[in-house]
Amino acid sequence: MPATRPVPRPTVLAIDAYVPGKSAAPGVAKIHKLSSNETPLGPSPHAVAALQAEAATLALYPDGSATHLRAAIGARYGLDPARIVCGAGSDELLTLLALAFVGPGDEGIYCEHGFLVYRIAILTAGGTPVVAPETSLTADVDAILAAVTPRTRIVFLANPNNPTGTYLPFDEVRRLHAGLPGHVLLVLDGAYAEYVRSNDYSAGLEMALETPNVVMTRTFSKIHGLAALRIGWMVGPAEVVDALNRIRGPFNVSAGAIAAGAAAIADDAHVAAAVAHNDMWMGWLTGELEALGLTVTPSVGNFLLVHFANVPGRTAEEADAHLSQAGVIVRRVSSYGLPDALRVSIGSEEANRAFVAALAAFLGGAGA
Ligand SMILES: *Cc1c(COP(=O)(O)O)cnc(C)c1O
Repeated sequence: MPATRPVPRPTVLAIDAYVPGKSAAPGVAKIHKLSSNETPLGPSPHAVAALQAEAATLALYPDGSATHLRAAIGARYGLDPARIVCGAGSDELLTLLALAFVGPGDEGIYCEHGFLVYRIAILTAGGTPVVAPETSLTADVDAILAAVTPRTRIVFLANPNNPTGTYLPFDEVRRLHAGLPGHVLLVLDGAYAEYVRSNDYSAGLEMALETPNVVMTRTFSKIHGLAALRIGWMVGPAEVVDALNRIRGPFNVSAGAIAAGAAAIADDAHVAAAVAHNDMWMGWLTGELEALGLTVTPSVGNFLLVHFANVPGRTAEEADAHLSQAGVIVRRVSSYGLPDALRVSIGSEEANRAFVAALAAFLGGAGA
């Protein structure tokens, strides 16, 4: 019998809509939002000024090619702007990549505790998500390669990964790429790349320039502090760039985003300050949490995964509720297969201290 009303494709109905980190605690006046990996330093003042200047021309469509922004990114990283595509956040680019390369019957791979947007993107495209198991909360190259079938079209890898904060050394990324069939697109999501200080890490920019089946995505939402504007970019092979330019919205990046993004990417001092702040407080926070007897997964991003499985009589859910009442908003990660953990972003000094104080009070009640 024909349907009596419009029915979405089956894979659309298989999507659990993305639930963002909370941003409010009902009844609590002063809150510290540590639930979405935003930077406590805010954006570059140059980016704010550039955005304000755009207010004079809001009636005009933006440059649909985001020329100014691609030129600024190209200048910062020594890249040909023709190999760059900008998007309304890197989330848009991840979805467009799936739409361009995955169809019904095709498979897309992501990792066990990988970023949930990948699953949504694969299903949006009509494809079948395939989950590769991890080892020690870290992507496992052998497991990813074992998940590849003749129907695999795309592999999404966040490096470093959110919400675990772990990363693959570039040797391992090379081994992954070497093991993939040439027609499989490897998407390296470097949303937190600027924060990583390990010598064996690379976001994969050169690999995206030099191989026919690798793209690297980046975002202005994290270290650049422009999450509200929605700006991401990717670099990749000319054929992939061409495919995305055919299917993206003709004006997918707003004029304010183009102007602010171009100013932000040129402000190296602001980025360096954010890295220094993150390094210092990541170390402090890790020490404080371990002193409270908690297990913390070593992170190279701007957030920490804190485990409660070994805390007698106390769950992550209870810790989250207690923290909320104290005005500290963190991220539950049950939807990432981590029901006994919480993810906390590195915040301002005040926020970090409030988080530790509230957690100490919560755990102090645990043994009583
Ligand atoms: C935050 C994040 C992004 C960035 O998303 P935008 O759409 O650019 O705001 C991408 N990938 C991962 C893994 C993230 O955590």
